[in-house]
Amino acid sequence: MLGADDAVAGALLARGWPARPLVDQSLGIDLLNTRYLIGGVLYDLLDHDDLTGAWLADRELESARPVPRQPLREARDAVVAVIADPADHAALNALLEHGRLRLAVDGRGRVEHDDVADPRWRAAWACLRDFVAVREAAPDRVRKCANPECVLHFQDVSRTGRRLWCSMTACGNRLKARRHHSRVRGTP
Ligand SMILES: [Zn+2]
Repeated sequence: MLGADDAVAGALLARGWPARPLVDQSLGIDLLNTRYLIGGVLYDLLDHDDLTGAWLADRELESARPVPRQPLREARDAVVAVIADPADHAALNALLEHGRLRLAVDGRGRVEHDDVADPRWRAAWACLRDFVAVREAAPDRVRKCANPECVLHFQDVSRTGRRLWCSMTACGNRLKARRHHSRVRGTP
């Protein structure tokens, strides 16, 4: 389960940045949402060591020193690419080469351990592994928000599977209102 966004919230506050939207996603998708647009301004946690470190702490991921922003950025780009085009999996597969899954059993059954030699890649690989699992469970339910001006992603866990927006209030209503206005304006 995803932890609270406590350390991130504090680090954002210290910078005077707005709070991060949509923090209820699983790890692999949460990585994508370390970047968000508010009021036309793009905020990216991975641009800064303190914010990236706070995000890793909240997600209970090991943080190498220096803070491994570049591997996380590469992982994020590869996942965004494969969501945009499921056939475009070369970049994701190349990054998955940084680690292996080690299988074991305990009293309850199967146990998986990440085996990632390079400490800088451990957190990014954990994110990729989570994304692969989420995608496998429901490939067509991992989506980008339908608002072209929004960069957030989510897993659609709704009953109908027809969720389009990161949030109805943030993007759904705004886009519907804009479509309505352009229709009105387009009427001769
Ligand atoms: Zn959105």
